[in-house]
Amino acid sequence: MAFVVGRCLRCGKKIYKDSEAYLCESCKILICDICNKKVKNVCPICRKPLSELTFPLIKIIAL
Ligand SMILES: [Zn+2]
Ligand SMILES: [Zn+2]
Repeated sequence: MAFVVGRCLRCGKKIYKDSEAYLCESCKILICDICNKKVKNVCPICRKPLSELTFPLIKIIAL
């Protein structure tokens, strides 16, 4: 079952629980795998490095 975690900040693509996505832990924003390559793994807002989305972080965002 597909569970939507959120949307990519750049392109608005839905990000599912099992899809590859990246997170800025400071801004709590999500970036999809395609946009992550374009922003070179750096948050477009605060310029900190993005971390790969893992399950405990998904729970934080879903709240
Ligand atoms: Zn995107
Ligand atoms: Zn950020």
